[in-house]
Amino acid sequence: MTKERLITGKTKLLGVIGHPVEHSLSPVMHNVALAELGLDYVYLPFPIEPQNLETAIAGFAAVGVVGFSITIPHKQAILPFLSEITPVAQAIGAVNTVSRQNHQWVGTNTDVEGFIAPLQTTYHQDWGQKVAVILGNGGAARAVVAGCTQLGFAEIHVVGRNVQKLQEFRHSWDNSPLSDKFQVHQWQELPNLIPQADLLVNTTPIGMYPKVEYSPLSAEEMAHLPSGAIAYDLIYIPKPTQFLQQAEKQGAIAIDGLEMLVQQGAAALKIWLHQEKVPVDAMRQALQNHLGIGERG
Ligand code: NAP
Repeated sequence: MTKERLITGKTKLLGVIGHPVEHSLSPVMHNVALAELGLDYVYLPFPIEPQNLETAIAGFAAVGVVGFSITIPHKQAILPFLSEITPVAQAIGAVNTVSRQNHQWVGTNTDVEGFIAPLQTTYHQDWGQKVAVILGNGGAARAVVAGCTQLGFAEIHVVGRNVQKLQEFRHSWDNSPLSDKFQVHQWQELPNLIPQADLLVNTTPIGMYPKVEYSPLSAEEMAHLPSGAIAYDLIYIPKPTQFLQQAEKQGAIAIDGLEMLVQQGAAALKIWLHQEKVPVDAMRQALQNHLGIGERG
């Protein structure tokens, strides 16, 4: 049964900014978590057009917003409006979580923690001997590169389809401590890379609902993935994606994107509430209920 939520003059504000933002799942999991904790907070979606970002942030400060999440297209554009940016967010060049601390906005990136969480909790491996192959060179790939670096992968290969965007991706890390931790490759090089992969990550949107029949790899390309490798798709609907189905046929271990979504949200909530314990299981369950998915299938 849903507990009654009473919004009063004391209710504290959290939220997510994006454009568009109406499909964001963050309000679902955060409001369930806040209700579960019995805290007088509400988490709202704020659609903010790029040209209004600075005004919106100033308005948030004026009305006492405690913190907010950031989604497309503001993850990089927000940087100039923050007083402090944590080293992890600086290294990636993108912020997904902002909190108000001492009357200033502080930005960090919890996508890295979210990405790593299912790898660390499920598979205790010595990553120092392992090879990661990352498909795609967009925003999410940045957090995945940082995550793989944090885990200490021996080799990290980022594979993209567009030479110019790949080079831009490469150069965007020039001032980052992570710049020499990975190599970039064109899509044609996949036949050489896939047989070496211990971790294969899909950060492209290929295969995302409603285009569920697609995969970033052909069956022939996937046939070269070593059995026992980990295939990790950042997409969380459908569950499983075509990419993960192909990988499982090869005897690979499959991880979908739901846990990353849950764990990056849990990490953000810990920052805003200044507490270590947040109801992660309730957050995961809220998303599964909302998306109409069970544990598997
Ligand atoms: P993005 O910035 O638009 O990047 C998408 C990347 O995919 C780009 O490098 C793009 O290549 C590549 N791509 C797109 N279509 C392709 C194709 N047909 N063939 C080869 N490459 C293709 O998007 P994003 O923010 O990184 O998000 C990517 C995916 O990750 C989305 O499905 C998103 O839902 C998911 N995601 C999940 C989580 C989570 O918590 N689970 C978090 C973040 C993102 P070009 O550069 O050449 O255009």
